[in-house]
Amino acid sequence: MSVASAPPLAPDKIAVVIARTRHKMILAELQEAVKRGAGFIELRLDYLAKAVEAKRLTPAKQCPWIATLRRGSDGGRWPGSEAERLTVMKQMIVSGAFEWVDLETDVADQVKRFGSVKRIVSYHNMTETPADLEGIYEKMLKQDADVLKLAVLAKNVDDCRRILAIQKNAPKPTVAFCMGEFGFPTRILGLKLGAPFIYAAFNRERGVAPGLPSLDDFRTTYPVRSINAETRVYGLFGDPVAHSYSPILHNHMLRRLKVNAVYLPFRVPDGQLPTAAKVYDTVPVSGYSVTIPHKEAAAVLAQEVDATVAQTGAANTLLRQPNGGFHAYNTDYSAILDSLHTHLEERARTQKAEDGPVPEVGQMFALVLGAGGVSRSIAHALMKAGTHVTIAARTYDRAVKLAAEVGCKVVDWQARHNVLPCDIVVNGTPVGMHPDTDESPVHHSFLKPGMTVFDTVYTPENTLLVQEARARECHVITGVDMFVRQAARQLELFTGQMPAIDPMRELLRKAMSPVTYALEEEARKSDGEDAPDDDADED
Ligand code: NAP
Repeated sequence: MSVASAPPLAPDKIAVVIARTRHKMILAELQEAVKRGAGFIELRLDYLAKAVEAKRLTPAKQCPWIATLRRGSDGGRWPGSEAERLTVMKQMIVSGAFEWVDLETDVADQVKRFGSVKRIVSYHNMTETPADLEGIYEKMLKQDADVLKLAVLAKNVDDCRRILAIQKNAPKPTVAFCMGEFGFPTRILGLKLGAPFIYAAFNRERGVAPGLPSLDDFRTTYPVRSINAETRVYGLFGDPVAHSYSPILHNHMLRRLKVNAVYLPFRVPDGQLPTAAKVYDTVPVSGYSVTIPHKEAAAVLAQEVDATVAQTGAANTLLRQPNGGFHAYNTDYSAILDSLHTHLEERARTQKAEDGPVPEVGQMFALVLGAGGVSRSIAHALMKAGTHVTIAARTYDRAVKLAAEVGCKVVDWQARHNVLPCDIVVNGTPVGMHPDTDESPVHHSFLKPGMTVFDTVYTPENTLLVQEARARECHVITGVDMFVRQAARQLELFTGQMPAIDPMRELLRKAMSPVTYALEEEARKSDGEDAPDDDADED
């Protein structure tokens, strides 16, 4: 039986964790957390360097609190003995300062229920998802608890499957999630699968638990307060995924499109795409973006593929079909051509007569740098458009293979500056990407006025190649333009609505800027102007 439809048990969907060594700092964070929308706070009293004094904290009380005093083996910092810990815990329970208490499953039976104080009975495992987790949970179900909590470290996708199954089938209110990067999506999916609340760190820097999102992550990226059983789930399959900008972009746009959906990063190691697709099907997940290293595997996994996937053998989008299978698309391919066509149309509108006619894509001579995943889509798309393509790649054999596949020319990497004529250079290598921002894949003397330079690197947007191209009066298409277009088409496939490109470009630029408050501002704007009705109480 699912508990998804039970009346709200907790005062808020987010329990904000405050973990500081001094009472003074706790008081400051309590105030700030409430200001930032916290309505339920867990105080990690084990972090305090001195004995806890509840009466020093209560003047700052503005919402219900959970008292937690975690020992080292459970990821906490309690320095004293177990007997002392239980004594302090009982003092907190009767202090009147806390509405909730967290008691570990092995000590919960030694602490009697007191008044209206609600009990979270918890199990933590900082090293693994144990083989007998289901048995541990069965025993916990018999304990005196208002909420059961399971927090275990995931080492692989299968660990996530087990925790999701427990969460989904929980007969009592349960918050079950995996810690670590693999487990990240399970922390948020709980709200769809019936968890009364999930956890967030107030202070990202405190590193309270591996993979614990911060309250700011929920304000800027994940719309967790609007998640319910009906929320559709989308996500990104890749490895690595932790620093991807796709969750920020997709979640903001889903809100703007007024779709009750959330988009999550799923870390999936090479070779494990079919397993991951099966595991997350149990949620279920309606569609995925696909990035390194799974684009070719995604094309193989799908039962139906569109023409661009059939042509390139690579997919960056998987859409779940009513029959349970996947339809695969390659929106990188369409984004490359859309970026180029839009750029040429813009030039046709604005270019002075003395600069001559704007070329057609089919008349252009292109130098494609790189022979990896993105260059593959570039070469196929340009060849299909009739462009004269030459490929140069660091690993010559790879370039030869791709050139043979698409039917274009190839040159040695060292000879790339000799490719003439050249109307357009497309960088499909990561050269120039953060942190190696002082590198460019071509010498600036190769760049001539009027040439088009298309850099697919988008972190940063203004790569050295882009800067040098502008300085030498080239026309520029940036990786941001392409990234936004491939994401926009994915959103159209996910929701049936094509989002506007310009706000997405703005959003991505803000997300990549170190000034994170720009995103908070964006979140507030969405709340005020565009949020769906069920979001009215958000932040
Ligand atoms: P990939 O499959 O790993 O291919 C990278 C290619 O670049 C390979 O040919 C590789 O050569 C070459 N390369 C790597 N380091 C190099 C260096 N220092 N000098 C010269 N060549 C080098 O990667 P991918 O998926 O194609 O992605 C490449 C880049 O495209 C990414 O880093 C990203 O910036 C960009 N991208 C942008 C978008 C967008 O939407 N804007 C989308 C996808 C990718 P070897 O075979 O010798 O390693």
